[in-house]
Amino acid sequence: MRMGKNSWVKGTFLCSLAVGIIASGAFTIYNFSEKVKANEPSIQKDSRKMPLKKVGETIYQVNMDDQFEKERIQEKKHADLGQKQQKVDEETHSDEQRPTAKHPVPNHAATKRMNTPNSSKQETNVVPPKEDKSKTVYSSKRTIYLTFDDGPESYTEDILASLEKYHFKATFFMLDGNIKRYPNAVKEMVTLGDSIGIHGVTHNVKLFYASEKSVLGEINQTNPTLKTITGEDSYLIRTPYGSYPYMTEKERKAVSAGGYMLWDWNIDSQDWYYKDERFVKNVINQLKQKSKHKGPIVILMHEKKETLKYLPKLLDYLSIHGYEGKAISSSMSPVHF
Ligand SMILES: [Zn+2]
Repeated sequence: MRMGKNSWVKGTFLCSLAVGIIASGAFTIYNFSEKVKANEPSIQKDSRKMPLKKVGETIYQVNMDDQFEKERIQEKKHADLGQKQQKVDEETHSDEQRPTAKHPVPNHAATKRMNTPNSSKQETNVVPPKEDKSKTVYSSKRTIYLTFDDGPESYTEDILASLEKYHFKATFFMLDGNIKRYPNAVKEMVTLGDSIGIHGVTHNVKLFYASEKSVLGEINQTNPTLKTITGEDSYLIRTPYGSYPYMTEKERKAVSAGGYMLWDWNIDSQDWYYKDERFVKNVINQLKQKSKHKGPIVILMHEKKETLKYLPKLLDYLSIHGYEGKAISSSMSPVHF
């Protein structure tokens, strides 16, 4: 019975020892496991906690970034190529007139370019300015000879100023008495490069055209008057009311023999008749009819107040339409009726 009691005690002790060892081992394993968990990187921890959907979005985002990057690179390549091509175009066409038809640009692009500060130079090349257009239409100047009879008068210097403003020269056929009355106006004509001519003394048809003697008498009387004032002889003459039908053949020959050059006209402004601006339109209409006229175009006007008043209108028209006003010279072949 003693042997049995000792064996039970030993058995109980061994069982307790075994339970202790097992419990201790389990605790150690648990601790190790927890330590391993604590040492794991946070990203893995997060990944494990991250739902599948979110992971998918992240991947998608990365893929989109790649796609955008690829597209961005491709766009940059295109842009670089475009810039290079534009540079080549500019270099190739730099000597040309840059016609718009050859390099059409959309309207919005053209507008934008017009608004940029550096575009003025380009625009000048692309769109010809108005001045160039007028030069193209009237590539060669057409000469015209304006003539004023019966002066000088008190407003002659205003007529001269008006002509000067438009850079026009003219010719003045003057009466002896008026030359003496307004010598300064005559001097001014010579100074400005206008031509001076003789118109006679009486301006009376019956008296002037009475004979060769009367014709030459009036002309020879006026010539020294002009010379006294200007220091120059003048051989340009226009007889009162024009040579036809008043002047006889004998009178013509006498004038020519005296060294004078008789000038009529081929456009009568009729300013003496209209006495208002209608004479301007009258001149313009006759000019249009003479568009193919060969030889000098000589316009008759008079030193009248109304003529002075509307002269700028005529000069405007003549300037815009490419006419150049010159003074008659003794080297020219005179115009006769
Ligand atoms: Zn006259």
